[in-house]
Amino acid sequence: MKIYGNDKNLEFIRKMKQNGHLPHACLFYGEHGSGRKTLANYFAMTVLCTEQNAPCGVCRNCQKILRGVHPDLIPVEHSGKKQGFSVDTVREVCRDAIVAPNDSDRKIYLFSDCDAIGIPAQNTLLKLTEEPPEHVLLLFTAVSKSTFLETMLSRMAQIAVCPCKPEECREALLSHGCTPEEAQSAVQSTGGRNIGFALRWTEDTALQETIRQTAALTSAVAQRNQYEILRILSEFEKDRSRTEEFLHLLMLQFRDACALRSGSSFLTGCDRRSAELLAQMLTASRAVRLCEAVQKASEALHANVSIKLALASLGGSLLLY
Ligand SMILES: [Zn+2]
Repeated sequence: MKIYGNDKNLEFIRKMKQNGHLPHACLFYGEHGSGRKTLANYFAMTVLCTEQNAPCGVCRNCQKILRGVHPDLIPVEHSGKKQGFSVDTVREVCRDAIVAPNDSDRKIYLFSDCDAIGIPAQNTLLKLTEEPPEHVLLLFTAVSKSTFLETMLSRMAQIAVCPCKPEECREALLSHGCTPEEAQSAVQSTGGRNIGFALRWTEDTALQETIRQTAALTSAVAQRNQYEILRILSEFEKDRSRTEEFLHLLMLQFRDACALRSGSSFLTGCDRRSAELLAQMLTASRAVRLCEAVQKASEALHANVSIKLALASLGGSLLLY
């Protein structure tokens, strides 16, 4: 299992196993596509591996995990209205957790993409997280720690999944069957810090277009081109999830402009050139106001305000900044 850009996390996981200090619950958090689930699988492999130098990748347990057929690594299925985890699903896990493992000395439950896990489900899970049977390990993945109740967090080891380097992203894309040209374009267009996102870019023309529009809007704001700002925003009036992604990417652009202004080169957006252009035009307080305007529009969309209204209000703020 090749994992990019997380050497310190891998070392931390291996050390926990070597020292016999494995937690009973662990959260992997970071943005979509950053490799949270891959890292969780690496953790499971390290825990269940029977060799000295875990994870060896060749013992029976490692092989079964790599093939996705280990009976003691149990992916919990999403359920409920928002595709989080329903209280019933969690109760089922709590009942099943008492039963001894099949093949190994641990039973690992993987709750992936927990972003929509509700408070009732977490409360139901609390006792198992606080006092699990000796053989139980609970793994969670989410975009943000803030998804979880403080009482849950206090019982979990927490691992922030790190972005990779553009060279690593390119290498990963090649190993997934991309041509060198495709890999190069994907890294250039996405910033090359998130392998899952770059892979999606290679097959999702709507995402390619959204990224282009995000860069164009950043430039238009820098140039105070009112017509262009309103024209780009008007293209996002139909599709809610696409608009949400657009706003997320726009926020990263504006944050990058703030970062560049304060002399940081740690960027997270897709288009450095337009962020640099904007950084030259902004004062620090204006940069913050731009971020706040995008945040407000995102919150309005989450609260089911009409897309048109949310974007009209955002357009007004972007013209005023
Ligand atoms: Zn092994």
